[in-house]
Amino acid sequence: MNGGKIDTLRVRRRFRRPLQTGRGPVEAVDRLLLRTETDEGVGYGEVAPWPGFPTETIEQAVEVVRSAQGSLARLSAVAAAARDTLPCLRAALSSCAHWSEIAGYAGNLEGAGLAEAATAEAVRAKATEGFATVKVKLAGTTGLADVRALLADVPGVRLRLDANGGLDLAAARAWTEFARAEPRIDFLEQPLPVGHPGYASLGPDKVALDESFLTPAGIDWAGPVVVKPALVGDWDAFRAWRATRVGPVVYSSAFETAIGRQAALWLAAQDPAGGAVGFDTLGRFELDGRDRHAGGPRVRGLLDQNWEAFWQELA
Ligand SMILES: [Mg+2]
Repeated sequence: MNGGKIDTLRVRRRFRRPLQTGRGPVEAVDRLLLRTETDEGVGYGEVAPWPGFPTETIEQAVEVVRSAQGSLARLSAVAAAARDTLPCLRAALSSCAHWSEIAGYAGNLEGAGLAEAATAEAVRAKATEGFATVKVKLAGTTGLADVRALLADVPGVRLRLDANGGLDLAAARAWTEFARAEPRIDFLEQPLPVGHPGYASLGPDKVALDESFLTPAGIDWAGPVVVKPALVGDWDAFRAWRATRVGPVVYSSAFETAIGRQAALWLAAQDPAGGAVGFDTLGRFELDGRDRHAGGPRVRGLLDQNWEAFWQELA
């Protein structure tokens, strides 16, 4: 089969309501779905960059794939040579290569809920759904007193606080101290912008990197890291790194279609020490037929999905 062939499908997904991200409100995202065919079989993958994360853009990925003219061998060579400049494409090709295992993943993982807002009402709604851990985004107006009140109003729930790089150093220090003193807070995620020198003075305890982590080649950090499988680059390289890493790792969605979600959950499931996963991302898009998994506090792989039929439906 001459090294295999590759087909692509570009899809745009519109959010029901603009989603708040580190880059401000986002109305829609584009994804590039891959279907590979080799002597070993068919594989699927998803190029799913996320606003605010320094990866290739969807246009750059489309251009690289186009230049391979349908040849998987050529594309794989280009992606491997590009190393850390095409992390989303490399992750998608890893998914294609491991698809027979991925398609068979029907396990389940503990998931953290994603609150719509940093309010007691929103956190309670997630606790009522059964989530033991809930992530809240720290908007510019959220203060320490608000989160203290949340903890008091919704007893039993654990919180993850995500600042999306929006704090200055003084505020980051205050939130870090608060997180360290409060046993029901898992961690403070990405307090400072990517590359901010203040991370060294905050220290790693309960300070998680998300936007700043990306791939294992990106940064050396002893604290928690949030791994988005869709952005992490080559999965075999990631797993080799993970096997020797001591600090906590949590896995998180980049709002993938069913293809990227199934693959990301499989990768997360390879890590027995990973914390509750951040995949409470379903139901955020307009109904476009590109989700297939069920939501809820147990995050499950899809058993018996006919992926060929799914691809045909999307095409
Ligand atoms: Mg984050």
